[in-house]
Amino acid sequence: MSQRRYCADDADQWAGWSYYGAAHRYDVHGTSEAASSCARVMDQLEAAGDEVRLRELGFGDGDRCAFIRLIEILVDGDRLDDLRILARDGDGRAFTTLMELLFRTDRVDQLRAEADEFPSARLWLAQLHLRRGEVDAGLAELAAAELDPELGWSAHSERIAQLLRFGRVADVRAMAEAGDRVAGRRLRRFERESDRSQ
Ligand SMILES: [Zn+2]
Repeated sequence: MSQRRYCADDADQWAGWSYYGAAHRYDVHGTSEAASSCARVMDQLEAAGDEVRLRELGFGDGDRCAFIRLIEILVDGDRLDDLRILARDGDGRAFTTLMELLFRTDRVDQLRAEADEFPSARLWLAQLHLRRGEVDAGLAELAAAELDPELGWSAHSERIAQLLRFGRVADVRAMAEAGDRVAGRRLRRFERESDRSQ
């Protein structure tokens, strides 16, 4: 098996890998012989640098193993542009991988740049700020994401969850009192849970 740059271990929703390292994690070939013969073919294609064939298999034939191998090559080579081109063509898996790579390598500025083109990159940017302990910056990115019609609901719900997580209960209470039903619901649950833990 070829050596990969990153470890594809279990991690949380934001810090893990969805596709990188995911070939042969589950049995998709039926037998272990078929799986290792597939891995051998992928190793050969990678060693030969035959990305054209990997793309044909991965996209033309819908071969998941070939797609994953291609993604791994792009990630290991830090080929952001190539991942972005695939994402721009509508490949959500490539987009997710681009986000995971930037998150994992702690590249705040690059994530911010991606958010100009891909609005949902802002959710990743917010999470990276939060992970770095930059709570206000993270909350501000979530608030900005709320203005996007497609992200609005999930960004809002996530911002309330993070406000509660960081003890900013008064902010959530003010939102609830202003008629925000999500804030009201979350606040009641939060208060029930803190009553119970006392
Ligand atoms: Zn395979």
